[in-house]
This record gives sequence, C-alpha cells and structure tokens, in this order.
Amino acid sequence: MRKNIVAGNWKMNTTVNEGVKLVSEIIEKSKDLSNVKLIVAPPFTHIFSVGEKLKGTDIGLSSQNCASEAKGAYTGEVSAEMLANIGVEYAIIGHSERREYYKECSETLLKKVKLALANGIAPIFCVGENLTEREENRHFDVVKQQIEEVVFNIDENDFEKIIIAYEPVWAIGTGKTATSEQAQEIHAHIRKVLSNKFAEKAENTSILYGGSCKPSNAKEIFAQPDVDGGLIGGAALNADDFIAIAKSF
Ligand code: PEP
Repeated sequence: MRKNIVAGNWKMNTTVNEGVKLVSEIIEKSKDLSNVKLIVAPPFTHIFSVGEKLKGTDIGLSSQNCASEAKGAYTGEVSAEMLANIGVEYAIIGHSERREYYKECSETLLKKVKLALANGIAPIFCVGENLTEREENRHFDVVKQQIEEVVFNIDENDFEKIIIAYEPVWAIGTGKTATSEQAQEIHAHIRKVLSNKFAEKAENTSILYGGSCKPSNAKEIFAQPDVDGGLIGGAALNADDFIAIAKSF
C-alpha cells in the first residue's frame, strides 16, 4: 500500500528561530492527522534544531539536497552521511531549481540518489517539464527520460524507498496549477514508466504533485487515483495552510 505524503519544501526561507517556531506550530496543529505522513525540509542550517523538535513525533525530517560525493575536498557541500548522522530521513533530489540554477544533470542526480540510499535516506526525486516542453507536447517524454536516467539505475530493493515528486516547472511558485486531469494523466504515465522496470512494485510508489498546491486546490488534486500527496513550496511556510493541505485527503 502506498503512503499519502505531504512534504513541505521551505527552500531558502526562515531563520533558525522562525523555522523552529514554524515546526512547533506544525506539530501542534497536526495532532489529529492520521492518514497522511508529513515531512518538512528546512534549510541545512536548521535541520538539527528542527530535528530536535520533531523527536517523538511522526513527522519526517528531510534535507533539500545532498552532495554528489561521499566526502572530502568539496567546499560548501553537505554529505548524505552527515545528514543521516543528524537524523535526516529524506532528501529532495533533482528539484527543478537545482536542475536549472545549479545545472544538476541526471549523472549528478544519480550519484546523489545512490549516496542518499546508501546512508539510509529516502530520496524524494523530482521530475517535471518546463513550459516550452509542455507547449510542444513533450512532457511525457521529458519525465520518462528523467526517470529512466536516474531511477532505472538503482536496484529493486532501493526502488521501494524512493518517492517521486512530479513538479511541472511552469507551476512552481507561479500560482498556476496543473488541473487535476493533467496531474492524473502524467502521474499515471510516471507509474507506467516505473512499472516498465520495476513491475508491480511501482504500485507502491508514492507520487507527489508539486506546483502552487494550496488549501483551495489540494482536495481535487489529491482525489486523483495516482496522486499520493504533494510537495509544497510557498504554502508550507504557513502552518495553517500546510495542515489544511494535509487535511485534504
Ligand atoms: C516546490 O518548489 O517544490 C513547489 C511546489 O513550490 P510552490 O508550491 O511554491 O509552487
């Protein structure tokens, strides 16, 4: 059975104090939630403090990235081992902002995914097309290639730990959302692509939608059979909105 998941990507927002306050509110307001797994992904500087707050709760702790190398002379990088060592359970890998601004390609992302898995961290692997690719009707091929180049190169046991986030780049932070039909059709496509390699195991993969998801549209999107939750950006910075989204199941 696949899990319903709502993950909050805080991006480069909040100070440590603000992040700890935000997670405290999320803990408080999520007490009666039972059918959805919540995950928060604070900036690196807050992970330890937020993790301390999360102790004894069911809320998962994620990073927004990890290094593509295991250790050594890589100034400014944070390794999967370091993250695992402070209790990180998930890592967002391949977010479109990383792909676009930091030129992360599939080769790099595969290294990150493998290192995360080797350290017991579950990757939240992001895929999605940009506006031109959507307008040229290439979105199905784009996500297929993104998955084949990375996810197809991990072994079957590791595949069970992967979460996929479909995030159309044209919907991220723009206020534009994919319609629930658009979300369903591409999520079903992603599951089909995964099943080409991992057969029925793809049925158990949680596939999250991301892109201007908010309390007003989450219910319709999450009602789609192949949408198993959301990766939330802007709305994850407000505890009420984040919890309202999680209550949309
Ligand atoms: C994201 O960046 O993962 C995201 C979905 O952002 P937003 O919800 O702000 O569009």
